[in-house]
Amino acid sequence: MKRLIFHVDVNSAFLSWEAARRVRRGEPDLRLIPSCIGGSPESRRGVVLAKSIPAKQFDIKTGEPVAFALRKCPSLTVAPPDFKLYSACSKAFKDICRSYAPVVEEFSIDECFLDFTGTQHIYPDPIALAHEIKDRIRGELGFTVNVGIGESKLCAKMASDFEKPDRVHTLFDAEIPEKMWKLPVRDLLFVGGSTTRKLNEVGIRTIGELAKADLNFLKGIIGNKNSLQAHNYANGIDPSPVRAQPEEPKGYSNSVTLEDDVRDLETANAILLALSDSVTRHMRRDGAKAFNVGVTIRYLDFKNRSHQRQLSAAIDTTNAVYETAKQLLAELWKDRRPLRLMGISLTNLTKEAAAGVQLSLFGEEERLDDKRDEALDKTVDALRGKFGSAIVRRGTVMKTGLNVARKFNGESDLNKNH
Ligand SMILES: [Mg+2]
Repeated sequence: MKRLIFHVDVNSAFLSWEAARRVRRGEPDLRLIPSCIGGSPESRRGVVLAKSIPAKQFDIKTGEPVAFALRKCPSLTVAPPDFKLYSACSKAFKDICRSYAPVVEEFSIDECFLDFTGTQHIYPDPIALAHEIKDRIRGELGFTVNVGIGESKLCAKMASDFEKPDRVHTLFDAEIPEKMWKLPVRDLLFVGGSTTRKLNEVGIRTIGELAKADLNFLKGIIGNKNSLQAHNYANGIDPSPVRAQPEEPKGYSNSVTLEDDVRDLETANAILLALSDSVTRHMRRDGAKAFNVGVTIRYLDFKNRSHQRQLSAAIDTTNAVYETAKQLLAELWKDRRPLRLMGISLTNLTKEAAAGVQLSLFGEEERLDDKRDEALDKTVDALRGKFGSAIVRRGTVMKTGLNVARKFNGESDLNKNH
C-alpha cells in the first residue's frame, strides 16, 4: 500500500511560541520586530537560541552570543527562554495533530510525523487536510507550522523544509526528480558538512547527482554505511515506519529474586517495604495511582502464588502499598515454605490530580529523588548483605495490561508444569 505521511514542523518554534504568548497579552509581536530568544539578556551572557526574520536582516545568527547580536542591532528585543511554555505549546499542537492522525510520532519538541496511510475514505484530499491542520494550529494556538506531505518520512520531512512559513508542500515519489534533485546535497537529511565537502570534491553538488552516482564509487568517498543511506535518501528511499509514542503504562511491578531463601515474616516484610517504595516511586513519577495491589511469591520448586486486592480508593504512597501488601502476604504465605522470589504489582491505574507532596519511606519529599534512590539502594544493599548474592531486579515497568496478564499467567503456567 502507498504510504501517506505528513511532517508537521513549527516555524521558528521558540520565537513563535514566545511571540504568540505576548500577542495574547496585547504586547508587540516578536515575529515582526528584530528579536531573539537568548539566555540572560541582563548579564549579556548566553547565546541566541532563535531569531525573528527582521533579526536575520541584521545578520544575527543562531548560536552566537547575545552580546554580539546586540552590537549588530542595539534595538534587538531579547526574550529569555521558557521551557515550560515550550513544552505546553509542543503538547498543544501535537494534540491537534493527534485529533486527525491515527499514528503520531513525536520527532522533536517542534516536529512530528503523522501517518495517514489507508485513510483515503476519511480524508480523500490530503492537501486540503494538511491545510486544515495547519490553519487550526494557527487559529487556535497563534503560531504557524509547515506541513510536508510524502510517501516516506524522509520525503515528508524534506517537503516541510521547502519555503517557509505557514506553507503546505508535497514531495510525492513521482515529484522527487523535479523537486528534490535540484537541491544541494547539503539539504539532504543527515548529510553533514564533512560529507558535503567530500562529495563536492568529486563533483557531486546536487541531490540528483548523488542519486545517480555509482554506489561503489560513493563507498570509496564517504564510507560504506554513510554512502548506502545517502544514496537511498537521494533516491527518496526510506522505509522507516512512523512510530507511535510508547503507550502509557498499565501497571508497575517490581520483584526480587533471592539466592538464599526467606523463611520468616519479618524478613519478608522488610523486602516488601523496599519493593513498595521502589515501585511506588516509579508510579508517582508518572503521576499515577493504583486501585489494585498484588503480591507474588515463588517457592523453591518455582511454584508461584499470587494474591491481589482491589481497593476502594487509588493509592500511591509507599506506606499505603506496603500495608496492603503486608496483609496480602500474611494471607498468601501461611505455610512459611521458603521463598525464592517476592514481587509487588500495582495495576488498575488512574491519573487523577496529584494529592500534594507525598512523604516517602525515607521521609524525603518526592522531588528529592536522587537522595531517595540512594536510600533505597542502601536498603537493597542491606538485603543483599543479608541474603548473600541476592539478585535484585528493580523498576520493571509493564507497558500494557496484556503484559501484566501475560506475566502472571506465564508464571501460573509454570505452576501447572511443576
Ligand atoms: Mg521547526
